[in-house]
Amino acid sequence: MKFSRPRGTNDLFGERMERWHDVEGRIVRLVRGYGYSEIRTPVFEMTDLFIRAVGKATDIVSKEMYTFSDKKGRSLTLRPENTASVMRAFLENGLHRKGGISRFYYMGPMFRYDRPQAGRYRQFHQVGAEAIGSSNPAVDAEIIDISLSIYSVCGFPPLDVRLNSVGCPVCRPAFKEILIRSLAGYGDELCQNCRERGMVNPLRIFDCKKCGEVKKKLPFITDHLCRECGEHFSRLQEILDGLGIRYTLDPLLVRGLDYYTKTAFEIIHPGLGAQNALSGGGRYDGLAEDCGGGHIPAVGFSAGMERLLETLPESFPGETGDGRVDVCIILIGDSGSMQALSLAGRLRESGLSVLTDLSGRSMKKKLGAASEAGAGFAVFLGPDELEREKATVKNMMTGSQEVLAFDGIGPFIERERDNRGE
Ligand code: AMP
Repeated sequence: MKFSRPRGTNDLFGERMERWHDVEGRIVRLVRGYGYSEIRTPVFEMTDLFIRAVGKATDIVSKEMYTFSDKKGRSLTLRPENTASVMRAFLENGLHRKGGISRFYYMGPMFRYDRPQAGRYRQFHQVGAEAIGSSNPAVDAEIIDISLSIYSVCGFPPLDVRLNSVGCPVCRPAFKEILIRSLAGYGDELCQNCRERGMVNPLRIFDCKKCGEVKKKLPFITDHLCRECGEHFSRLQEILDGLGIRYTLDPLLVRGLDYYTKTAFEIIHPGLGAQNALSGGGRYDGLAEDCGGGHIPAVGFSAGMERLLETLPESFPGETGDGRVDVCIILIGDSGSMQALSLAGRLRESGLSVLTDLSGRSMKKKLGAASEAGAGFAVFLGPDELEREKATVKNMMTGSQEVLAFDGIGPFIERERDNRGE
């Protein structure tokens, strides 16, 4: 082997890919059912977008971005997350002029240069939803409801949402001052990272895995919210209670992106270990302004596909199954490739999935490959059959076989499957 995949990336194929498609399909149907439509933005953006939106002092921007210059010397970055791009696209395409709430969902790869470990990769995939244009806490509740439903439609048991409010530009600066004063008393107990960033971004300490003991002794932001943030937070809890959505208040919860205001939440899976967040989200009422637009309140979430797939319950109700084909057409002899391909095309038109084996290998090997592909039927095309525009069709389950005209193969397979109750 000359090459290996870059550290922190994955190759997806086989059963894992099939499950991925099943999960994606379920999620897409779910979010569309809430009136969200897909948005696709470029995989790279101008670097400044992420600096402005995600925040200079965050780990993502300061350490984890894949940034490069193009041939004209412009600084570009592989997107580390998608919310900034969605907001950029929303404003750039004038979608804010429509008014009301715009609801989008997205899915695709994101890139962060982080230390790879189980559940943490350098290329990973997120599916997320953004509701742009409303400050109503009922929309926060809708987003939390969707984030949870993603897991219930995939067969997960009820999961817990950890919920907090991280305030807004009115109350957060004052809280930061309180926090900085409080942190000064714990200088020696803080890890080096928190000591260094304590003055610039003191809220980040709540995200630090090493400073657990100090964290518990610090003041809570929820005790220092302004009136508007406090009311928004209480109303959201009332709505969630009314909808029967379970959550746990977690005053230590902060998110690794600076754009969040008011609501912040995470969905946790106990089986994930250190990287235990399946998904996270919150409100970002200032992001449109940071991106050069007006004041447009918004709320959204993002779920990691790898972590979802890694914790998918055994009972996951798969649909596409294991990628089995219905039919394998096996050519016997050297000629007849064209007819085999043409027959495959006709069978596919009738809705069957068809694999063709035009190789010169032994019949044993060909049959072995057909079973491995899960083919329920093998269609043999030998020189005699070809001459008569016929083929021998074998039911791989029962072993019975029949010689049939090309036109009769599709209906025959359908009948056989009906008999088996498929
Ligand atoms: P974030 O964009 O940081 O709020 O993350 C949202 C979700 O994306 C997390 O809860 C994870 O499921 C997933 N995620 C974030 N970073 C990574 C990563 N490096 N590798 C795998 N999944 C990730």
